[in-house]
Amino acid sequence: MKTLGLIGGMSWESTALYYRHINEMTRKRLGGLHSASLLLWSFDFAQIAERQHAGDWQGAAALMIDAAKRLEQGGADAFLICTNTMHRMADDVQAATGIPLLHIADATARAVVGAQVKRPVLLATRFTMEQDFYKERLRRNFGLDVVIPDDAGRDLVHNVIYDELCKGIVNDASKSAYLTEIERLRRENGADGVIMGCTEITMLIGQEDIDLPVFDSTLLHAASAVDFALA
Ligand code: GLU
Repeated sequence: MKTLGLIGGMSWESTALYYRHINEMTRKRLGGLHSASLLLWSFDFAQIAERQHAGDWQGAAALMIDAAKRLEQGGADAFLICTNTMHRMADDVQAATGIPLLHIADATARAVVGAQVKRPVLLATRFTMEQDFYKERLRRNFGLDVVIPDDAGRDLVHNVIYDELCKGIVNDASKSAYLTEIERLRRENGADGVIMGCTEITMLIGQEDIDLPVFDSTLLHAASAVDFALA
């Protein structure tokens, strides 16, 4: 079994899901008392969120590179950045390390393409919805025609992530608001699937709430890591 390095704490609420998913999938595949071989570097998320909101992406990238190197030196065979947003600097982090980065957008997009979904809604932080690093990768490498909420919708989705989900708050009114936004994007923009492109959104909504195929980036990223570790 290979060792996976996780760059987490962004937020720890979703890193806890990664830890559970990776271990559960490993046990399911290998049976008995098997569990995953893991290294975790968990950030103080306040330090990260501050840099994101100040637009200090270079500072944030330096922190990601430092963490990836620590995991590499600790013996990881590959590493994961356990958040969609911080894949903004994925290329720089990959270039600075000698072990592969297992990319969250690729793991998610493979499932979207496999389900023959073509116009998925992307629900994520404002950074992920508005900047090109994620959408463009989905377009260019996977031919997906990504639909994002309008300005008010992006505000809603972003604020619920930072003000609630990253603090462990799961709110019924926010859930309804998300579902209303998804329904609007299906009706008005022809969306045919939903990418939960933020690793905490799975705490709020899931396939059981939505009558379109739903893609949970946390679960799909964890599954791709287990595939790598057990290959
Ligand atoms: N975990 C979230 C994501 O997947 C948001 C927190 C962050 O900005 O890293 O994008």
